[in-house]
Amino acid sequence: MNIGWIGLGNMGIPMATQLLNAGYRLTVYNRNKAKSELLQAAGATVASNPKSLMERVDILILMVSDDAAISEIFESETGLLNAETKGAIIINMSTVSPDISKKMSEKCIEKGLNYLDAPVSGSVKQAETGQLVIMVGGEEAVYQKAKPILDHLGKLTLRVGEIGSGNHAKLAINSLLALYTQGLAETILFANQNGIETQDLLTLINNAAIGNVFSKIKGDAILANQFKPAFALKHIVKDLRLAKDQGISSPLAQTALSTFEKAEANYGEEDLIAVIKALK
Ligand code: NAP
Repeated sequence: MNIGWIGLGNMGIPMATQLLNAGYRLTVYNRNKAKSELLQAAGATVASNPKSLMERVDILILMVSDDAAISEIFESETGLLNAETKGAIIINMSTVSPDISKKMSEKCIEKGLNYLDAPVSGSVKQAETGQLVIMVGGEEAVYQKAKPILDHLGKLTLRVGEIGSGNHAKLAINSLLALYTQGLAETILFANQNGIETQDLLTLINNAAIGNVFSKIKGDAILANQFKPAFALKHIVKDLRLAKDQGISSPLAQTALSTFEKAEANYGEEDLIAVIKALK
């Protein structure tokens, strides 16, 4: 089976590398060519544009930033929808809107292509070890064909409904991620105000029922003053805006959107836990 990959960012590189390590023939495309060369050195072939990549593969996976990137990759002159091919499956693992998944899925059907939305929960560490959680929207029969490949990337792959429902599930999860991130940052700052050291507070949290993998990883980042993005703060702003477009209007969700939007100007390219610097 020939697999294609578009999008070699923080997540795409380790995820595509998992498939190479599993022995699949992989062809990649990335807008910034230097990143494709990294995968080429690991054994992948490089395509010059999305259209030519689509014409050589049975399954094509996308892991790019946002709806605008998806529109460009599908609809430009050298985009996927201009490829001369039928029957392939396009799996969009990016966190994007349910609306763009529905739109691109309809266009794929007209072209004789299949589409699944399959966003992921987990970050770079989970991507590097094939431990992501993958939520899928789309037809059951198409899902069953894609699942063996997705299982190399995640510890759990679950179909949650028709096209767009993977995106809906992901926006729900990332709303919780935003609330938890802001909550952790505010809790640390409140404790600091009252003379409690960050290290001591994190030791307490991480040994209590409210501690988890996220509080451990992000707590370590705060202690090391290390905000290199695993998940860029600008991406959680995008996700909270998408959740708002899909109808979330709770008090906490509104507050989180406003907090992260304010933080974006100075910290958008840093990890989302850099919100602690904005709150400070
Ligand atoms: P990233 O590091 O910012 O990488 C974004 C990728 O999208 C790059 O390959 C970039 O290409 C490509 N891209 C952006 N605009 C494009 C366009 N117009 N045409 C073609 N390619 C374009 O993002 P990431 O952290 O890997 O995240 C990718 C997706 O997964 C996002 O939707 C994010 O919300 C989601 N996600 C991220 C995490 C995480 O922890 N990082 C976790 C779960 C889900 P260039 O290299 O040329 O810029």
